[in-house]
This record gives sequence, structure tokens and C-alpha cells, in this order.
Amino acid sequence: MFEKEKETQISQILNIVKIASLSFPAIAFLQYFSVTYSDSKLFIQSGVLIVGVLLAILLIFVLWNLLQSRVKDSFPLKKWFDPIISLIIAFVSVIFTGAYHSNYKFLFLLVIISSSIECSRKAAIAISGFSAAIILGVDLITAPNTDVNTFFESDIVLACVFLIISWTIGYYVDLRKKHIESLREQANVDGLTGLYNHRHFYDYLDKQLEACKDSRRELALLFVDIDDFKYYNDLYGHQKGDEALRIIAAVMKQTIKSGSFIARYGGEEFAVLLPDTGEAQAREEADKLRKMIQDYVFPGQENMPGENLTISVGLSIFPDKAKTAAELVRYADEACYRAKFLYKNRVETYSSILEELQQDMLELDSQRVASIKTLIAVINAKDKYTYGHVERVVFYCALIAEKVGLTDKQKRDLVYSAYLHDIGKINIPEGMLMKTDKLTPEEWEVLKSHPRMTAEIVENIDSLKDMVPVILHHHERFDGTGYPDGLKGEEIEYLARVLAVADSFDAMTSVRPYQQKKTYDQAIEELIRCSGTQFDPDIVKVFIRAIRDHDY
Ligand code: GH3
Ligand code: MG
Ligand code: MG
Repeated sequence: MFEKEKETQISQILNIVKIASLSFPAIAFLQYFSVTYSDSKLFIQSGVLIVGVLLAILLIFVLWNLLQSRVKDSFPLKKWFDPIISLIIAFVSVIFTGAYHSNYKFLFLLVIISSSIECSRKAAIAISGFSAAIILGVDLITAPNTDVNTFFESDIVLACVFLIISWTIGYYVDLRKKHIESLREQANVDGLTGLYNHRHFYDYLDKQLEACKDSRRELALLFVDIDDFKYYNDLYGHQKGDEALRIIAAVMKQTIKSGSFIARYGGEEFAVLLPDTGEAQAREEADKLRKMIQDYVFPGQENMPGENLTISVGLSIFPDKAKTAAELVRYADEACYRAKFLYKNRVETYSSILEELQQDMLELDSQRVASIKTLIAVINAKDKYTYGHVERVVFYCALIAEKVGLTDKQKRDLVYSAYLHDIGKINIPEGMLMKTDKLTPEEWEVLKSHPRMTAEIVENIDSLKDMVPVILHHHERFDGTGYPDGLKGEEIEYLARVLAVADSFDAMTSVRPYQQKKTYDQAIEELIRCSGTQFDPDIVKVFIRAIRDHDY
């Protein structure tokens, strides 16, 4: 924006100089004409002449600009284009108006001024040297052969003036350029950490992504968030917190491979762009950083949860996982969120279960899954308390699936059911989902209908049919007092019993409108307490083991 404005202003100045460097020779030409043809000084003739000259100025000016705009920016001689044309005009004017005794040698000054503004100082000095050589050469060649060439002597002074002017303006312009460059650099850098700031991150990301699209290269994005940083600030104050931020920035600069772009994305979030980096290498890089921060001894870290100050990292890859800049950031952010919700201090790669599912589906089903994705997004927006709930339940289900040794087909069915289990909530009014008071019996009935509503949506999709019983019965209780069908024990589909445990565990450990969040240990106690009544006791045992084992 600023660049464009500056360029327009400079081109306005240069246009004025261009018009001047055309008008002065025109005056010179008129003068020459009036002297040479002084006897035919008819009023009409001179009028025609002046109009003709003005039109010629206009024509040359338009042609000049047209020609210049046609030449590509990448053309190496482009920057010499203006000075060369101006030099030719000045040279022709001088020759026309008397060569060595011409009064129009100052026309070279216009070339020198404009090139000093436009080109570098060196180029401006070269052009002024060249101009000086032209006038002195003209003096030597065209002046009458006398002992002392007075024209040459006085033009030496003019040549010196050329050099001084080009040097001074060129120097000033260079100084301004450097100053602007340093201001720009400062505007891109975060004051606290010395890393690039949020704004520059997006500028750079857009440019980098365009370049990667053109050359079909990969680009990895790491999203780094400090674990429990609010806690650290609360313990030691914000100044100590800032100090920790500075240390983390320094460790990042040292650890992450050169050629990467590191920015402070937000308060205690950082973003790293790794060019030409695929998933495996980006993971390695992220894990190296995670370990470095884990091993760094921060002042006072012994009082933090886990007696350490750590980071969690989410990563996403262009073009493999994300196709646009917005997707790349959103997916890395989501992955970081996923890295955090259970144990923190870990690295997660973005993956979308529905997208994977979509890949091996019939065309028709694939479109329906796309609409389910939209439904999930709408539910997330509607009920902010369930934000991330689906992902967490999927994660817990995947953990249990590993522990109980399900077949691949069962694992898939379980994970997809977990993903879909709440979409029926789309029909439930927002006010009810967010209600903090006890629900009325009628409201309860509506809420209890959501497994059936979900099942009805899913039933229509052939590839998802097998998940219907799992989804329909994830609110049944082991003792037969659940809903919608009041099934009991083994009557309830096995995967539905697994989903019930995962779903309830997440409901207990996240903030809900109607209850305080429980710690993991409290939630585990609650699972044990409800073993055999609400939950299948065997699954509770496996789940607790899976949760406890899932730490590095
Ligand atoms: P989590 O593990 O879930 O990330 O927990 P968290 O406490 O780190 O939460 P979050 O990522 O939301 O971090 C927000 C906190 O980061 C709030 C504030 O105390 C701290 N913070 C943000 N910006 C700054 C900053 O510029 N300086 C300091 N000292 N602290 C900051
Ligand atoms: Mg944060
Ligand atoms: Mg944090």
C-alpha cells in the first residue's frame, strides 16, 4: 500500500521532470527556428509552429511512457531507459542550438536530477560523468581551434556541478532508502522477542504460499503454544513471564533449521514456517524444539504442573493437508489444540477423519459427508461448550481401540461413530444446549431424542450404515435405564458401550453450562463409581489404563 503510494508520487515527480526536459528543448528549437528563419516571421507561421511543437512534446511524452510501460520489469536495461532517452534529447538540443556555445547545456541537469532520484547513487554519478564527457567532448570537437578553449574551461565548472548535484541527491536518496528499510524492518519485528510479528507472518505466508504453488513445493507450519502459561504468570508475575517468552524465542531461533521463518503469532503463541519440508521432517523439527524447551531449566519451573515449563506444537502441511493459507493456519491451530487437551508437551499433526473417510467413498456419499462436516461446524458454533468435544471423544475412542485390540473395521466404525455421534443436536434449540438451570421434563425429552435424530441422518448414507446402532445406543446405560431403547448389558452394541465411556469422560472433564469441570483423577473416580450401573465395568478398566498409559 505504502509502496504503491510512494511509487505513484515518484512517478509524478519524474513525469514533471520529463515534461520539463521536453519543453526546454522545444524552447531551444523555437529560438533556433526564429533566428534561422527570421525573415519569414509571419504571425500565422509562428502560431502553427508553436502548436506543432506543443503537439510534438505531447506525442513524444505519450510515446515515451507507452514504450516504457511495454518493457518488462525484468528487462535488465529497463532502469537505463529514461536516462538514455533524456540524454539523447539533451544532446540533440545542444547540437541544434549552437553546440559548443549552446545556452542549453543545463538540460543535462534535468537528466541528472531525475536519474539521481530514480536510480542508485552510483548510477547517478555515472550518468553525470557521461553528461560531463558529452559537453566537454562537444567543446573539444566543435569549438574553433584557438590557443585557449574558453568554452571548455567554463564547462569544466559545469561538469563539476553535475557531479556534485548527482552525488548529493544520490546520497540523500540512498540515505532515505536505508532509513525506510530499517523502519520497515522494525515494523515487522515484535519488540519483546525480536521475532517477526503477526502481521508480517501473514504477509510472508501469502508470498511463500504463492511461490510454493507455482513451484509445487511443500510448506510446513508449526503452531507453538506454551503450556499453562497463565499459571506461570500468576505464580511469578508478567515480567518473569516476558522473560520466559524471550528465552523461548531465543531457543527457537537456535534450534529450528536455518531458512525457516519464526514469528510471535500472539501473546504466548509462535508460528514457524518451514519451506520445502514434508510431514516427517516437520515432525522431527517440532519434536526437537519441544525437547529443547522441556530440557531448558526456566527459573521457577519447579512450581509448574509437571514441574516444568513446556510447549505443545500443532503442525499442518501445504499442499498435502491444507490448500490455502487460511486452512494451513486453522489446521495447525486445531492440531495444537489437539496436542494440548489431554497431556500437553506434545506434537500433533493435523488430520481430518472425515476427509480421510471421504477419500474412500462413493461420489454420492462423499457429498453427503461434506454436508455432515458443515453440520458439525454449525453445532460447534451453536454450542460453544462442545467445541473440541467431538475431536476429544474421537481421540479417546482411538486410545481404547488400541488397548482392546479391535479389528481395523471396528476401529473405523468406532472412530467415525464418535465423529458423528452428536450431529442430531443440530435440531435442538440453542437456548436448551446452553441452559444452566435444570431442564424441564419436556426439554429432557427433546434432548434425549438426539441419538435417534443422529441415526436418522446417518442412515441415509450407505457407507455409514454400520455406525447406526453405535450412534443410536451411545446413551444406553449398562443397567438398562438409559435411552432411547432402555437396552441392558450385552444387548447394547459393544462399540456403543465404548463410545458411552469416552463421551461421558469428556463431558466430565470439560466446562459445561450446568457443571464444574472435573480433573482427570476426579473423572476417573466417577467412572469407577458408575461402573456396572451406567458403564460397562470392563470397558471402564481398559479406558482408565489407556488414559494413564498415554503419556510419553
Ligand atoms: P494452555 O496450556 O491451555 O495453553 O494454557 P495457558 O495458560 O497457556 O492458556 P493460553 O494458551 O490461553 O495462554 C494465555 C495466557 O498467556 C494469558 C496470559 O497470562 C499469557 N500471556 C499472553 N501474552 C503474554 C505476554 O505478552 N506476556 C506475558 N507475560 N504473558 C502473556
Ligand atoms: Mg495460547
Ligand atoms: Mg498456552
